[in-house]
Amino acid sequence: MLTFFWFRRDLRLTDNAGLYRALKSGKPVQPVFIFDRLILDALTDQKDARVTFIFDAVAALKKELQVLGSDLMVFYGNPIEIWQKLLTAYSADAVFTNTDYEQYAVERDAAVQAIAAKENSAFHAFKDQVILDGGEVLKDDETPYTVFTPYSKKWRERILIRLEWAGDTAVSFYLKPYPTEKYLSNLAKPDEVRQALKTADATPDFSLPSLESMGFKRSDLYIPPKTVARSLIKQYKDNRNYPSVEGVSRLGIHFRFGTVSIREKALAAQSLSETYLSELIWRDFYSMILQRFPYVEKGPFRKNYDHIQWRDSDEDFEKWKTGHTGYPIVDAGMRQLNATGFMHNRVRMITASFLAKHLLLNWRLGEAYFAEKLLDYDLASNNGGWQWAVGCGTDAAPYFRIFNPILQQKTFDPDFKYIRAWVSEFGTDTYPPPMVDHKFARERCLRVYREGLQDR
Ligand code: FAD
Repeated sequence: MLTFFWFRRDLRLTDNAGLYRALKSGKPVQPVFIFDRLILDALTDQKDARVTFIFDAVAALKKELQVLGSDLMVFYGNPIEIWQKLLTAYSADAVFTNTDYEQYAVERDAAVQAIAAKENSAFHAFKDQVILDGGEVLKDDETPYTVFTPYSKKWRERILIRLEWAGDTAVSFYLKPYPTEKYLSNLAKPDEVRQALKTADATPDFSLPSLESMGFKRSDLYIPPKTVARSLIKQYKDNRNYPSVEGVSRLGIHFRFGTVSIREKALAAQSLSETYLSELIWRDFYSMILQRFPYVEKGPFRKNYDHIQWRDSDEDFEKWKTGHTGYPIVDAGMRQLNATGFMHNRVRMITASFLAKHLLLNWRLGEAYFAEKLLDYDLASNNGGWQWAVGCGTDAAPYFRIFNPILQQKTFDPDFKYIRAWVSEFGTDTYPPPMVDHKFARERCLRVYREGLQDR
């Protein structure tokens, strides 16, 4: 008899809540990873760097597990069908995993849980992806917050409520690492896996599908490291708004796929930078919003924003996507995104605002474009960031506050360092003039938003 552990957005052996619980549950633990066809088939770029990233992380996990005398089962297909096969083929008392809060994942997991129940296996999911989930930081009347500042105050209080001793320092229970490494000897050995097969002549499948067999090619896009200098985090508050400075951690992709533990980084941030910790709280906040208001995945939190009459212009959208708007800070951001899969947070705000306010194009187009391109793409944070920029979200800037891309450049890239790094023709005759006049665009935006939101 086995226990399965299903890796998803938690591709690491250390400080892994669900794996820790599985290893302590008593049976040999067989880890599984599934390349989900339903997700992969929707990707348009054969060289999608996120697929290469996951592939490499899974291959590395497999090696680590082999060194420990175990192995990782890796499949490619529909997870529901694969779990049906696995739970039919093996005697397993349970499937352990970490909770994924996106609607698609919630429905998929409910289907797997139902299959498990039919096969007499339990299904256990644990909080790992966030520090505090959608039910843990509530107003006094037990309803969810929709404004960040009071949410973050309560979040901090909640963290401090449960302090435990680690050596001679007090650590919050919520940030304390799960000592997974102590129990790795409970991983299943190949012999134990064979014995758990219900049919005597079957053999376990430990093959690793290649990127090519799944329809992808290796991307050579740069992936930022998992470790960040303490000095960078210490100076984060002063540097984080300047896109030409290496002042942000670039850990987004690692948080997205769980190759680093969010608890570990938050614990370090507690003593190094309040501001950095606050950004991690934003991440929990947007995840909470998606958990508690799942309709935001399909439309604005403030539903009256659905009445805004967006313009329809493929030509303008193309100029925005490719970085040819004639506003150098916008163009630099879009070109950085296209070339590297990363865009600095300040510039994400500027480019998003420019699309939805200056160009008056539907923000869902921009949200989808970021989803396609960002290495750190995360449904909750991307959706939250876009809704914030448009003004239709929870803790959103009011619609009449319109970022001025020229002033933003003067404040955050005063010597054009960032712009020159990404827009080589800036300052020459080949650089286009602004595609729309700022004053005109501002007034048009105010009028159209006002009309759309009137009396609704
Ligand atoms: P750092 O500045 O080093 O921050 C550390 C971590 O804190 C980030 O990795 C992230 O996990 C979290 N964080 C920081 N700022 C925010 C924020 N405003 N909201 C939520 N979490 C935050 N973040 C994503 O992780 N995925 C996205 O798809 C995404 N899309 C965005 C779209 C728009 C329009 C905007 C305005 C913001 C978006 N963000 C998104 C938030 C933020 O821009 C990125 O998290 C950040 O730029 C990633 O770079 P970093 O890892 O160097 O972050």
